[in-house]
Amino acid sequence: MTGRHPNIFMDYRTCCKCKNSADVVESSKDYCASCYFIHIIGMPIEEYEKQQNELEEKRKEKYGKS
Ligand SMILES: [Zn+2]
Repeated sequence: MTGRHPNIFMDYRTCCKCKNSADVVESSKDYCASCYFIHIIGMPIEEYEKQQNELEEKRKEKYGKS
């Protein structure tokens, strides 16, 4: 999502990282969804999904050939 939109609190807030509209407040700091993800997981969501896919592939390699 881009542009300004009200967050889950129906309130206009600004992400402290990228200045997009913020969706969550954590430790009294405002984050948009993607910056919040980076804050919590420590990596962008794309990177996280890639890692999950790779893990899944490895699992298939190990157990999948039956
Ligand atoms: Zn952000």
